[in-house]
Amino acid sequence: MLRYPPFKSCPCGSGRSFASCCGPRLDGTHPAETPEALMRSRYTAFVLKDAPYLLATWHPDTRPATLDLDGPRWLSLTVHRAAGDQVSFSARYQEDGQKQTLREDSRFVQLERRWLYLDGEHR
Ligand SMILES: [Zn+2]
Repeated sequence: MLRYPPFKSCPCGSGRSFASCCGPRLDGTHPAETPEALMRSRYTAFVLKDAPYLLATWHPDTRPATLDLDGPRWLSLTVHRAAGDQVSFSARYQEDGQKQTLREDSRFVQLERRWLYLDGEHR
């Protein structure tokens, strides 16, 4: 069981507290009800290096066997559009002293009434 530091506001940038945003998704008490909520919680999981949560919310068909989370330091998330099963977002990160932006259109599917990350296309 991972323990989380006490955030003032949720790392996903929603402006809400961690306890009323991604916290209950990551600890399993309140699974994400929409693709955007799941996407935000997965971003937060990347920030917190919560590999078990990321793997658990990945569709079995596309889920990697293992995850290496020792990569970039995630700085911020911007959700541009959420419609149907797709979410478009930008995530700022820092790697080797350089600030960069990842842009992705992610696809989600519902399996047994839970939203799962299927795949994404980088833009
Ligand atoms: Zn959040």
